[in-house]
Amino acid sequence: MTDEADRAQQQTDQMTKAGIDRAREMLTRPGSAWCEDCGAVIPAARRSCLPGAVTCVDCQSGREASARHRRPTG
Ligand SMILES: [Zn+2]
Repeated sequence: MTDEADRAQQQTDQMTKAGIDRAREMLTRPGSAWCEDCGAVIPAARRSCLPGAVTCVDCQSGREASARHRRPTG
């Protein structure tokens, strides 16, 4: 009984840790100086706002629009 609870707790800890690691990676990732989609230079201001940004504003909004489009509802 206790073992099972410990295991569940351990799993939760690992999941949380993975989430934190990922978030940290996003924050420390330098991102790209050029848009992955169109190759335009990503302004330094955008990169400092959004460390890890890899697309320009236009392409990012395009990506968000198509992500929204793909959802069956909303
Ligand atoms: Zn772009």
